[in-house]
Order: sequence, then structure tokens, then C-alpha cells
Amino acid sequence: MNYSNKLLIMFVLIGFASLGCQTQSSGPYQKPFEQSSGNLSNTARPTVDSKPKYVSATIFPIYSIAQQIGGNNINVKLILPSGESPHTFNPTPADKLNVENSELMFYIGGELDEWIIDVTGTNGKLVEVNEGIRQLQYGSDQEHGDHKDGSNDPHYWLDPRNGKQIANTIAREYALIDLDNAPSYQKRLELFNSEMDQLYQDLLEHTQIIQDIPFIVLHDSWSYFADAFSLNLVGTFQPYGSHGPSPKYLKMLQDKTENHDVKVVFSEPQYPIEVLRSFADDNDLKVATIDPLGGVDGRMTFQELLTYNVDMVKSSLLAKK
Ligand SMILES: [Zn+2]
Repeated sequence: MNYSNKLLIMFVLIGFASLGCQTQSSGPYQKPFEQSSGNLSNTARPTVDSKPKYVSATIFPIYSIAQQIGGNNINVKLILPSGESPHTFNPTPADKLNVENSELMFYIGGELDEWIIDVTGTNGKLVEVNEGIRQLQYGSDQEHGDHKDGSNDPHYWLDPRNGKQIANTIAREYALIDLDNAPSYQKRLELFNSEMDQLYQDLLEHTQIIQDIPFIVLHDSWSYFADAFSLNLVGTFQPYGSHGPSPKYLKMLQDKTENHDVKVVFSEPQYPIEVLRSFADDNDLKVATIDPLGGVDGRMTFQELLTYNVDMVKSSLLAKK
């Protein structure tokens, strides 16, 4: 290699080295991607689009579905802390801060989590996830006591078939705010829905043996669950949300408990068990616990939550006293 060739190679090398520096800084050079002839374009471009988007969900079951459909593309925040009841929750300024930058706010609707409207502030679009869901009504059988008769029972997520509808709504909304990743959302939705079909079939098989065994529950949130699995739910201790039962109502429930030969009442982790204790003792009922919300150990996904409740109901109803 002669001297002029060496010199030429040196110039070329220096040229490339300085180009490399300039493309990393935001200096006065124009069209850095074209000059670096494709070396950087592959790694540099996607960082703009792949930033995760922020959304929020009021209660854990929607949060879990929103996470599963969103994967790494979506950062989901949960608003209702675990252990709290949505019926009595009062959002604090910290809760409002926590959902800042959320482009979508998923909620159940009805009278369950309308505090979301206070939390929203200047954040993104409110999305009620009840589309395509046949809603049951409170009080349609005259047996639910003192809440507003005829209003929709909002606990629809406790039917696995409705979990699929919630997922459909969430996937559609994700695609609207993030068209580039729409195929990923669609793929995860299909996976989730086929998993839910399988889970529902499995749980239906599990519950066949208990379909005739009567039980009562603490709060009026299990109609969809009982409907999905054809369970024999005969009454509710606390007929609506956070209100306690009247003496008249309790007398009626007591009669029903006797008539149906009920042996088990189900409490919930979000409520103090003491409110049930004397009624359970007076009527010789065993108290077991089921959980409409989850978000704690053993119930860290929507699927685990449904499985947990089916297992608990089944083992409690089949247990010999
Ligand atoms: Zn409830």
C-alpha cells in the first residue's frame, strides 16, 4: 500500500468517526440518518414509538385484564387499593396524582365506582367497560331488601363470559390510542379469550356437583357469578353496598335460611366479619370467605380470582360440618 492510499483510508476513517459523533449529538448537521448510511436507523427509530402508554383502572379485575391485553406496550395503574371496597372508597389527592398522564380510565360503572369521575381531572378518556354485557338488575326478585330496586347490578365482572367482553372493549380502546401496536393487542385479546373459554368450561365442570346446594352471601355482588355457574344463591345478608340490613329484612332472610336449609354464608375480605357473626351463630351457619376483587396473594390475576372463588365455594359447600 502506497502512501496516498494510506492517507485516503485515514481520511475515510476520520470521516466515519466524526460522523458517528455528530449523529449522537443534536448539532447543526442535517440528515444524520442518511449520512450514516443505515448504521443507526434500525436502532434509533423505534424508541420514539415504543414508549409505554399510561392508562388507569378502578378495580383489580379490570386492571388485571387491562394488563394482560396491554403487555409491555401499556402501563396500567390500579386506583382502588387492595382491601378497600369500591362502595365506600373516597379517592384522595394522592390517588388523583397517581393517575396523571393516563390516556384511558377504565371503570365498571353503575353505582360501583363512579368516584372515578372525581379522580379523572384533566386526564384522558373515561371508558365504561360494560359494552356487550347483559346486565342483571338488583331487586328484580323482590328479595334484595332496601337498595334501589330496578337499578343495574354492577358486579358483572364475576361472570367469566363478561371478562371476555371487558377484554374486547379494552383491546379496541388500546388500538385507538396506539394504532401501531393494534396487531399485538388483537393477538393478546385472542389468547385471553380462548383462555377464558377454557377456564369457564373447566370451572363449570368443577361446579356441577354443588349446583343444588343453597348458600347466602354477605353483600349483593354474586348474582353474575351464581348465574354463570348455575349456583343456588338464595339470599344476601347486606342487601346493598355498605348499608346494613334492617331488622325486618333480617327476619325475612332468617326464614329463607331455614326454608332452604342453608348451611353456609360467605363473607368477603373487604368487609368486617363481625357484622355477620351473630346472624351466622343464631342460624347455625358456617362462615367462609370469597373475594369479588382480588389483587392479593393467590388472586393476582383475573383468572386466579375466578378460580379461587369457585374453589372456595365448592370446598365450603361440600365440607361436612
Ligand atoms: Zn359490591
